[in-house]
Amino acid sequence: MKIAIITGGSRGLGKAMAISVAAHGQDVILTYQHNKQDAEAVVAQIEQSGRKAVALQLDVSDSTSFPAFRDAVKQALKQTWNRDTFNFLVNNAGIGIYAPLAEATEQQFDQLVNINLKGPLFLTQILLPLIEDGGRIINISSGLARFSGPGYGIYGALKGSIEVLTRYMATEFGSRHITANVVAPGPIATDFGGGAVRDNAAYNQALASRTALGRVGEAEDIGGVVASLLSDEMHWINGQRIEASGGINL
Ligand code: NDP
Repeated sequence: MKIAIITGGSRGLGKAMAISVAAHGQDVILTYQHNKQDAEAVVAQIEQSGRKAVALQLDVSDSTSFPAFRDAVKQALKQTWNRDTFNFLVNNAGIGIYAPLAEATEQQFDQLVNINLKGPLFLTQILLPLIEDGGRIINISSGLARFSGPGYGIYGALKGSIEVLTRYMATEFGSRHITANVVAPGPIATDFGGGAVRDNAAYNQALASRTALGRVGEAEDIGGVVASLLSDEMHWINGQRIEASGGINL
């Protein structure tokens, strides 16, 4: 049994990842920002499947809170598993803000940077000593790092940056046999972006028609990809970007 920390595990992709990772036999620490009740419901679902799970509060956009979060992780590891280390870190929590480049504000830029780039970097840094040698890091990017979605230029640029950082993580952490990879989802029907992919039928259909498989993704599509990447068989994949989009813009 191994232990995965998944940020943003209360809803959407992170929830599906937590459930799928547990179904693959791992235990989970999942984080939430505001929705404690939703996070605890995910914990209960995982516990019903016979695995252990803990929910911890975390604001990924506030790096001053990271030392206290690290201490909470240490405490959870000790209390629940009698361990000092965990195995997998999935930097999933992120937000999108519609901000066309002609109008985007510095405040929007800073908000996006803090949660989508600065947060995952410094969270990884502070948790790194707690990741067991041979562990794995997965950073969640987006198809928008590679193709344009008008209004999402800053978001896409930051997702591109996390992809570059991931390659450097793979290079710099390799001496400890820790791998780092990116999963880049295509459009997925979640609350993300105000739920536009899920709730706006015309937008959903337009995106679906750009995929080879003819539909947008569901959170579970990505949960399975992440759980598979954390399986023993995938240990030789390192520094790579896996796009999970049903084949968009091929
Ligand atoms: P959701 O909006 O459905 O869920 C967001 C999750 O992140 C929630 O668990 C939320 O916690 C948490 N969260 C939000 N802000 C913060 C914060 N400041 N600190 C810590 N946690 C936070 O998003 P998705 O599941 O759709 O997206 C997850 C990831 O996937 C993001 O990185 C996104 O960029 C990426 N992605 C999404 C795509 C999509 O189409 N949905 C496509 C490509 C990439 P709480 O419930 O407490 O608010």
